Amino acid sequence: MKDRIDIEWSATCDNALQHAIESLGELRLIKCHEAGHKIVAQVETLKKSANCPTCGHPAKAKDRRNSIVQDLPVNNKRLVLMWRKRVWACSNPQCPQNTWTETADFVSSRHSLTTRAKLGLAHQALINHVPVAQLAREWNVSWATARSSIEEAKHLSTSWSEPWSIL
Ligand SMILES: [Zn+2]
Repeated sequence: MKDRIDIEWSATCDNALQHAIESLGELRLIKCHEAGHKIVAQVETLKKSANCPTCGHPAKAKDRRNSIVQDLPVNNKRLVLMWRKRVWACSNPQCPQNTWTETADFVSSRHSLTTRAKLGLAHQALINHVPVAQLAREWNVSWATARSSIEEAKHLSTSWSEPWSIL
């Protein structure tokens, strides 16, 4: 996604945005920025501690890394999450696991759309029959990303029945 990140932030955000972030269940809204048809929300997970996945020792907060993930639209505007991912380090000097970056349930690792955004995009394709090329433009993702999101959403949702027709 071609989203610029040198932006002016506001600490006062729309209630609908606040609700959208909270409804993901894992995130806290830090600040936001609205520009035209796009809202950028800086978020972090509610998790304050972690244990090493290798040895189980408590982790130390080491760093933050920005991860850009698009969520369902809010107020008919694209919602782009700038997730301040924690980078953890193991507190056990004997442990081979040096550092690791946190993961969460609302988005698959290295994916550019939240899981519910994929379902939303897929709904537009499968139920409303919006062509994939149009969805790719509207969601500002590649055609391949839109197409694979639809394929993935088919497996996530049990409420849609075959046959699928994707334009
Ligand atoms: Zn460890």
